[in-house]
Amino acid sequence: MKLAIASGKGGTGKTTVAVSLALSLASAAVSPLFLDCDVEEPNAALFLRPEMTARRDVGLLIPVVDTARCTACGRCAEVCEYHAITVIGKQVLVFPELCHGCGSCARQCPEGAIHETLNVMGTLEKGVAGAGAVEFYQGTLNVGEAMAVPVIRQLKAWAILPDAGDRPVILDAPPGASCPVVETMRGADAVLLVTEPTPFGLHDLRVAVQVARDELGLPVAVVVNRDGVGNDDVNAYCAAEDLPILLRIPLERAIAESIANGATLIDIRPAYRARFIALWDELGIVMRDASFSTRMHTENTDFFSKNP
Ligand code: SF4
Ligand code: SF4
Repeated sequence: MKLAIASGKGGTGKTTVAVSLALSLASAAVSPLFLDCDVEEPNAALFLRPEMTARRDVGLLIPVVDTARCTACGRCAEVCEYHAITVIGKQVLVFPELCHGCGSCARQCPEGAIHETLNVMGTLEKGVAGAGAVEFYQGTLNVGEAMAVPVIRQLKAWAILPDAGDRPVILDAPPGASCPVVETMRGADAVLLVTEPTPFGLHDLRVAVQVARDELGLPVAVVVNRDGVGNDDVNAYCAAEDLPILLRIPLERAIAESIANGATLIDIRPAYRARFIALWDELGIVMRDASFSTRMHTENTDFFSKNP
C-alpha cells in the first residue's frame, strides 16, 4: 500500500505520525519505503537520522537557443503555454523560472536551433534508517526555486519505480492543499490526514478532505493529534462524513517536549508501536472497502479505549 500522510496545515504532527508509523512497521519486520515529499522544508531526517547512501541533482530540461541557427521566427514563443520563452527583435529570451520543461519549443523549432540542458532545482537523496529497516528518500528544493512539483515527481519516480513490490510506501506530504500536496497524493492508495481538534484544524481538514477524497477519489482516514485541546467539532465532522478516526494522540506536555528535542512518539510511548501497526492494518481495510469507514470508527474507538 502506498499511503500519503498529509494535513491541511503545518504543525499538526504529520511528520510525527509518518515517522512513528515507519519505525513501527520496521519493528514488525515490515520494511517500508519512506519518502519525505515536503521538499521545501524536509524534516523527517531529523527524527529518522538516516545514513545517506546516494545523492543526485534534480531539475527540468530547459531550452538553450543556438543564435547562429535561429531565424527569430517566433514559433517557440507561440507554442509555449507558460510564457517562458519570447522573441524580441532578433533575440530569443528564456525565463527558466517559468519553464515547465515540456520540450514543445525544441520540437517545434523549424531550424533545430534549440537544445535542452538540465536546470538544477534541487537534490534527491536516499539512505537507510531504523537500523537499516527503513529505506529513506528525501527531496530538497534549492533556496529561491518556486516549483516543488517536479522535485516531488522525480523523487517518487526514483524511489517507487520501477517497482516497490508489496512493500509499504509512506509519503510524507507538504502541509496545505496546493499542487505539491496533490502531486504527493497522486498514485497513492489511501490518504491519512492528521489534524487537531480546533477550529483551524477543522477548517484545514475540510479542505484536505476535498482534495484527497472529493477531487482525487482516494480513501481517507484521520488521526487526531493533541486530542483534548479545543472542542468536539472535528469528531462531529468525521462522524458526519464517515471518516474513520484511526488514532488519537493526547495533548501531553511530555510528548511535545520530547518531540521538540528530536525524539519520536514511539521513543516516548513505546506502546504506540502496536497502535501504529494496527492502524496500518485498518488502513488496508479502509482502502479495500470505503463503506467500511463508519464501522471502523466504532471498532477502533473501542480498541483504543480498552488499550490506553
Ligand atoms: S523557433 Fe527556433 S528559429 Fe524560431 S525563434 Fe525560436 S529558436 Fe529561433
Ligand atoms: S520547454 Fe516548454 S515551458 Fe519551457 S520554454 Fe519550452 S515550451 Fe516553454
